[in-house]
Amino acid sequence: MNRPGVYIHIPFCRARCSYCDFATGTYEGALAEAYVSAVAREIEAFDLARERVEVDTVYFGGGTPSLLSPAQLSRILDAVRRRFRVAACAEVTLEMNPGTVTPDALRAFRAAGVNRASFGAQTFDERELRRLGRTHTADDTRRTLALLRESGFDNISFDLIAGLPEQTLEAWRLNLEEALRLRPEHLSLYLLEVHEGTPLADQIRQGRYLRPDPDLAAEMYRLMVERTSRAGYEQYEISNFCLPGRESRHNMKYWTGAPYFGFGCSAHSFDGRALRWSNERDTLAYVKLIEEKGSAVAARDELGERDRSAEALFLGLRLLRRGVNLSEHRARFRRDVRADFAEDLARFDEAGLIEIEGDVLRLTPAGALLSNEVFAAFV
Ligand code: SF4
Repeated sequence: MNRPGVYIHIPFCRARCSYCDFATGTYEGALAEAYVSAVAREIEAFDLARERVEVDTVYFGGGTPSLLSPAQLSRILDAVRRRFRVAACAEVTLEMNPGTVTPDALRAFRAAGVNRASFGAQTFDERELRRLGRTHTADDTRRTLALLRESGFDNISFDLIAGLPEQTLEAWRLNLEEALRLRPEHLSLYLLEVHEGTPLADQIRQGRYLRPDPDLAAEMYRLMVERTSRAGYEQYEISNFCLPGRESRHNMKYWTGAPYFGFGCSAHSFDGRALRWSNERDTLAYVKLIEEKGSAVAARDELGERDRSAEALFLGLRLLRRGVNLSEHRARFRRDVRADFAEDLARFDEAGLIEIEGDVLRLTPAGALLSNEVFAAFV
């Protein structure tokens, strides 16, 4: 469980979506080529561990990594295989957007080693897609899923967003039903967050759309928990649902404190103990730094014992069934959560947001909905 994972950030998209604040820009062929070379170089120069550590997940995120050609993706994967031992059973995920892949490209991605696809459906309503600035239609999503299945992908994840501008509970229900009918192995279901500096935030400020209503968002969340559960999906994390055994093995590393090594602009890394670092966010500046220095690390942070304990606590609580085993936590971090947060725990318990069963602390369904308030007390 504690083997490291590798994350590769691909910062290119066909167009910018109105709600997105990720480190991405529009695709340019020459820059993509220089970027792939820089990432391969950064991976090969990685020097945290001298020996070739074994990793069992590789995750291409973005951005829209499926805009890379199979040859470009293979160059990066070859660099990963030269610098790390990639376990035979490794989960290799490629994020993609509907309508960005052809049957030939999918076959070539699979031949290169990709065995899991994660794609941003977001909504099946054409008007909602247009409002978000998405460049695909709902039919593109259905076709992409069919192509993935035909190409042999048996581990597929969809992203959907609830609480979109002017979205009703009924519209969200129809989206959910359609996603469940298509039966991907994994679903990531998010509530829309409006980030400052995005076109969506401006549109809301100008009065074009209303800010998402928190009560309606809560109803949508309850509906997704209920419908996914009836359809046989387990809610293993606050926003993530899967068929039995199909958790995202890579994302589990973030929630369980396993090490992960990120490459590419804005990628974050963690050594599994106390050290975190992250890369330069700007794509061009990243390429230049790698070409000139072989490294683009922009920030490093060494967490103290109390911070590590708090972080393990709020990340662990995201895993709803598993929760946090307080004895194991004390053995690992030498901190007594019951003593450190006695008042907060009593308050959350009284409000029905947490439960302590034996030695295990978990969020309740109400706590999952208000998780940010609970986590704020721990950090
Ligand atoms: S495709 Fe994804 S990463 Fe790219 S702009 Fe849209 S939301 Fe952001």
